[in-house]
Amino acid sequence: REDPSFWKDHNVQVIIRIRPLSSSEISLQGNSKCVRQESCQTITWTGHPESRFTFDLVADEHVSQEDLFKVAGLPMVENCMGGYNSCMFAYGQVSFQTGSGKTHTMLGDIEGGTRRHSVNCGMTPRVFEYLFTRIQKEKDTRKDEKLRFTCKCSFLEIYNEQILDLLDPSSTNLQIREDMKKGVHVENLKEIEVTSARDVIQQLIQGAANRKVAATNMNRASSRSHSVFTCIIESKWESQGVTHHRFARLNLVDLAGSERQKSSGAEGERLKEATNINKSLSTLGLVIMNLVNISNGKSLHVPYRDSKLTFLLQDSLGGNAKTTIIANISPANWLVEYIFCVFALLFIGDTK
Ligand code: ADP
Ligand code: MG
Repeated sequence: REDPSFWKDHNVQVIIRIRPLSSSEISLQGNSKCVRQESCQTITWTGHPESRFTFDLVADEHVSQEDLFKVAGLPMVENCMGGYNSCMFAYGQVSFQTGSGKTHTMLGDIEGGTRRHSVNCGMTPRVFEYLFTRIQKEKDTRKDEKLRFTCKCSFLEIYNEQILDLLDPSSTNLQIREDMKKGVHVENLKEIEVTSARDVIQQLIQGAANRKVAATNMNRASSRSHSVFTCIIESKWESQGVTHHRFARLNLVDLAGSERQKSSGAEGERLKEATNINKSLSTLGLVIMNLVNISNGKSLHVPYRDSKLTFLLQDSLGGNAKTTIIANISPANWLVEYIFCVFALLFIGDTK
């Protein structure tokens, strides 16, 4: 296997995670898969004609939760500890049968809330376990600097380009503001202080429950919206009589599933919804593609303001921020079409 440690030099990384076939898929169609992994960076779609795609990492079913955390989650936390923002996007198509593995990747088995309890524990609990362990370690080694950390969480949903507070669902249609002091932020968004991974998981679960209720009330699927969970890590210390402040944002973004407008036959509200989803995913794709090209020396305009999602995350994308996209896909043949949605909408696949 190639060594994925070269990532350290890259601020944007795209990971494809392929889940194993489920037993119902195997009983339906046997062991055949629509993708074949060539190396730890390349996959081939085994359709006609065969197409090959290259990413920063292709993680098959043998890549464990722990391994994925080490290559994607850990650098993100370290970046935040250094005072820079980090952003992780999880993408996974909604399906009527077995899902693509997004929940498994991002949450996994969260019973007990910590990784000591299960090998299946997912990215988010591992990220926050690690974050709070790092904070403690830092405090222990820098006692004479009176180092203090404050972590605050917020959780919001973007549906049809409108922002809803998932930690206070009575707050709807919140506005994005930009000023010198706070940078780009959401006005009146609730922030809750957290001191452990368990606290974080509790807020995540509460927010996810509110998200479900909001979706049910509006008679829509919750997978039709994006959700953004943010932890603001503030640190303060003293050295040579000067007080230092540092802020970092750690964002975990659950992207809405894309949809093909033609084949879905959507009308009215459904069409508006699908249009907004596709627009914000393609804006995200364009922002990320331009950031990659900029880091390769090109000078390009980054259209952050073309969607609420990218505008909101403007300070966490580009510059010194680390960005990871994990696209979860199913290897089952009958889902072939959506692989192309992933590629087309995030358009980051490098066809060879
Ligand atoms: P989604 O959230 O995208 O709908 P899930 O995360 O619920 O999908 O995954 C669907 C099923 O596949 C679940 O039973 C899950 O445990 C299993 N699964 C997903 N990814 C993996 C993986 N990498 N390894 C093992 N099982 C997985
Ligand atoms: Mg799920």
